[in-house]
Amino acid sequence: MSRTTFKKQVVIIMGAPGSGKGTQAELLADQFSLYYLETSKIIEAKMMNAKKGEFAVIDGKKYFLAEEKKKWQTGLLNSDPFVNYLMREKISEFFAKGESLLLAGSPRSIDQAKDLMPFLKKLYGIKNISVILLDVSAKESIFRNSHRKICELMRHPILFSKETINLKHCPLDGSKLLKRKKLDDPETVKIRLKTYKDITLPIIDYFKEQGISVKKINGSSAPAIVFKNILKALK
Ligand SMILES: [Zn+2]
Repeated sequence: MSRTTFKKQVVIIMGAPGSGKGTQAELLADQFSLYYLETSKIIEAKMMNAKKGEFAVIDGKKYFLAEEKKKWQTGLLNSDPFVNYLMREKISEFFAKGESLLLAGSPRSIDQAKDLMPFLKKLYGIKNISVILLDVSAKESIFRNSHRKICELMRHPILFSKETINLKHCPLDGSKLLKRKKLDDPETVKIRLKTYKDITLPIIDYFKEQGISVKKINGSSAPAIVFKNILKALK
């Protein structure tokens, strides 16, 4: 696939857990030379490397990593100021390098959106920000998440299908395939889904109010078809 060069831009992919954000993000990042800034990975990296008693001071308030880790592992959202802080740190870093960005699963709440969007607008300009909303049913979301595996080495997501049901190793790097304990248990997925509906979906209205382009795409189709539809929408 040939890479397409564009002006500096930001593409934001929104969708319920299991809507295929990760897969589409990888494909898009490659096609448009976008740097894929995945909130969950940024949070995960921070959590995995959290030292005992470690905290961040944001606006004069202490955020203990152990507390944030507990929330993260039980399907609740991390504190907004904490996530905003991690995101802005990364965004500034990549803007300074002249990179275009791709965000998947971020912002996750209205407060995060209100913190992040003016920041992104100032850096990249409103005309260079596009939002893609991947639409899947709750049933589909729960099914996909409770069957999802990721690889140990690169955390590549492996979609559930007849072809992958017996797969034990990552087809890309050969590392072991794992289930994400706790995070992808059906009960945790239900909490994540409710959180998504209550807290994340209203952000779409906020984007529209702000004059940011939002394109809704059916996420239940095969990944290749979803990708084609996204490319059409971004033209
Ligand atoms: Zn892999």
